[in-house]
Amino acid sequence: MGRLPGSGLAKGLAVTLRTMTRRSITRQYPEVQPDLAPRSRGVIALLEENCTVCMLCARECPDWCIYIDSHKETLPAEGGGRARTRNVLDRFAIDFALCMYCGICIEACPFDALFWSPEFEYAEYDINELTHEKDRLREWMWTVPPPQAHDPGAEPPKEVAAAEKAATRPKRTPGEPRTPGEPRTPGGPRTPGGST
Ligand code: SF4
Ligand code: SF4
Repeated sequence: MGRLPGSGLAKGLAVTLRTMTRRSITRQYPEVQPDLAPRSRGVIALLEENCTVCMLCARECPDWCIYIDSHKETLPAEGGGRARTRNVLDRFAIDFALCMYCGICIEACPFDALFWSPEFEYAEYDINELTHEKDRLREWMWTVPPPQAHDPGAEPPKEVAAAEKAATRPKRTPGEPRTPGEPRTPGGPRTPGGST
């Protein structure tokens, strides 16, 4: 059976009318900012104070876009102990022109020095400007949202559970032998046959 003349036009107009009466979902960015999910991956922030220059993030990055330079510093001996050396961070940079926002560096960092920030407005005309040095990465820390609360009834993190257990443990008087499994306090007396 042939189609009625003008049916295609009527169908098209019906679609137009239906769309015209629906509420628009277009955001007038940049006048209206988007509502981003709390864990949006916008830019990577560096908490420089936590970084021990272990290089794990740079080694794990699949794009090789994390650049780290450091030097060793010797700290003078205190109280008759040995002099200690520590790593000092000279350069920490991420090239966001190469980064693929996989988040592996953040997962790999054992010292909580890297975080996701939802900020995404850092487009540049010059590609070289997309390499953010440590001062700029540190500034992004101010835009990192606080961690989300745990689900009700979720297990507490093991660090919190260990601290609470230690706080409720009865205090030992000096000279009293340790109970089995109790950790030795630094400088505390050794028990006969104890391993420490
Ligand atoms: S998010 Fe992925 S690609 Fe980007 S710096 Fe981290 S590890 Fe590298
Ligand atoms: S993994 Fe963390 S602590 Fe190690 S170099 Fe990277 S940011 Fe610093």
